[in-house]
Amino acid sequence: MQILDEIISGKAKSLYRTDDPKRLVMRFRNDTSAFDGEKTAQLDDKGRVNNHINAFVMKKIEEGGVPTHFVKLLSGQDSLVRSMEMLPIECVVRNIATGSLCRRLGIEEGLDLEPPLFEFFLKNDALHDPMINDFHILTFGWATREEIEQMKSMTFRVNEILKKLFAEAGILLVDYKLEFGRCDGRLMLGDEFSPDGCRLWDMQTREKLDKDRFRQDLGDVVETYRLVAERLGIQIDH
Ligand code: 5GP
Repeated sequence: MQILDEIISGKAKSLYRTDDPKRLVMRFRNDTSAFDGEKTAQLDDKGRVNNHINAFVMKKIEEGGVPTHFVKLLSGQDSLVRSMEMLPIECVVRNIATGSLCRRLGIEEGLDLEPPLFEFFLKNDALHDPMINDFHILTFGWATREEIEQMKSMTFRVNEILKKLFAEAGILLVDYKLEFGRCDGRLMLGDEFSPDGCRLWDMQTREKLDKDRFRQDLGDVVETYRLVAERLGIQIDH
């Protein structure tokens, strides 16, 4: 397989066309950003660590019955994925209150959320990813009614799969963001699952093991991501 030109360059990943029109290469870069791109940095080795964490987690999600765009890990910072038409929507599930939920609604930090919360956001940095609901999605044609229901059920199924997976590694899955797309006439999980797009706390100490280390200048960002990989039993090749 040949890697051709870059077609999309996001804040932390790039997508490349390949000689197979149905397949793209997703490259996890070392670039890190927060606050809608206002704070940026290059974190040595982050791309490789996140590529391996994502590959491991996507396989577990697929085994748990949720279709994903992930095909296979290629090497270092690259994975092969299905080409999809992405929806401009972010799906967030929260098991413990923190982040924007606490800021928006004055909810106490660290509160257990039972049942877990589901929120939709519009993927739009210029507008700071505003929160939206089912009606905005339908009225503006960002997804169909059926796709809205599928996004909710698949995002909650991911919660069941990953809460257990992380709990076995002594890690709390606090919250996470997923993005979906259309491929061969059906909805599939796209984008990535890595510590860049979720919150993970140590179960005993509640130490932060995710991108909040970067957002809040806590240090040891990639070292901590590597620790998450190690605790999940992920081998990272060189
Ligand atoms: P919050 O709404 O509290 O900022 O984020 C909720 C969860 O979704 C967190 O795990 C956060 O990392 C993730 N998240 C929300 N928006 C984005 C985004 O635009 N990019 C990434 N990488 N993660 C996001």
